[in-house]
Amino acid sequence: MATFSVGFLGCKVSQTDAQELRERLAADGHVESAGETDVAVVNTCCVTHEAVRKSRQAVRRAARGAGRVYVTGCAANLRGGALDGLPANVLVVRRTSAAAQDMVAGDVGAIGCVNAEVGLDRVRAFVKVQDGCSFSCSFCVIPDVRGASRSRSAAAVLAEIRRRVAQGHREVVLTGINLGCYRDRAAGYDLPRLIREAGAISGLARLRLSSIEVNHLTDELVDAMVETPGVSRHLHVPLQSGDDHVLEAMGRRYTVETYLRRVARADGFNITTDVIVGFPTEDRTAFENTLRTVRAAGITAVHVFPYSPRPGTKTAGEDPVAPSEKKRRSARLREAAAAACRRHWGSKIGRADLVLVDRPGRGYGDDYSPWLLDAPVGSLVRARGCSVNGEGIVGVAA
Ligand code: SF4
Repeated sequence: MATFSVGFLGCKVSQTDAQELRERLAADGHVESAGETDVAVVNTCCVTHEAVRKSRQAVRRAARGAGRVYVTGCAANLRGGALDGLPANVLVVRRTSAAAQDMVAGDVGAIGCVNAEVGLDRVRAFVKVQDGCSFSCSFCVIPDVRGASRSRSAAAVLAEIRRRVAQGHREVVLTGINLGCYRDRAAGYDLPRLIREAGAISGLARLRLSSIEVNHLTDELVDAMVETPGVSRHLHVPLQSGDDHVLEAMGRRYTVETYLRRVARADGFNITTDVIVGFPTEDRTAFENTLRTVRAAGITAVHVFPYSPRPGTKTAGEDPVAPSEKKRRSARLREAAAAACRRHWGSKIGRADLVLVDRPGRGYGDDYSPWLLDAPVGSLVRARGCSVNGEGIVGVAA
């Protein structure tokens, strides 16, 4: 038996990988601890230069409190020595997530044997259905570190969701690096069919998608989401840029017109997005186009990524936009989204919504808007919006 901690940085897929490893180590009889441990695992992120810097920082911190540290995830697979020079008790595991889990679990078992940043959330569970990406956006290092797209079988995904529900989880979030690529060809499943069948699982109160590329936001997908009870009316659709020239240079394979048309088709959904600011070809006019697109799409939250060149990508050697300008553009985008968000929350006043309470006094509505509400954790409550404050919609049971 060993004591362990597992931490993660980055996206929902990284969180899901960390959650899976925690559960596997616990199932093997090891004990999770928040103090000094025999073993710490840090599942890292490399989406930006800053993400790699924070990953290194987390590894160094973990190395001070654990006998041995395993570094897994995207930054561990990054080319170019980003994780060189770490303390002697650190092992960088350069493998895909499944192979890394096998290796760490085997090693920790042999030892006989963070600071636990991942709370095993009893209301919400993340279920990974797909990993990797077979596209080649010019800025993105993910295909290099995670490999080509591959999907789990539908039977395995549906069995895991049933298991999560039996464990007491009320909400499941389907995650993937490029979720819309989900296919179980042998069994005849794509993402819309998976959603319909997952949503029909008895006891599951809410089903949500982590993120979907706009080219996968098809009529079939929207219909499946609308027609399946319990599916959240929230879509996180990466925009990356709202300028056609920049989109082309990014290799994104859609235009602004396509993005706006497809998002408009998802009428009544709360739309959030990712945007890269300061991409090498983004001049001031292109940035103004992005701002206009974010407003036109009614986007209520933007995860802004200041561009940083990633090793091995097509734009690895280019970074002409000054950091101060990236900061200014980031702030303007966040302001635009915050204004749309306030309007969106305000539209809930006097109206009813189904709120899933996931923490004391807080929960999320049907479209993933935050609500402040007094009800037992894990309950699904019909609530009416009374007012809005800086944290969400203040509601009472309707
Ligand atoms: S779709 Fe593009 S940005 Fe997204 S993971 Fe694949 S290559 Fe990267």
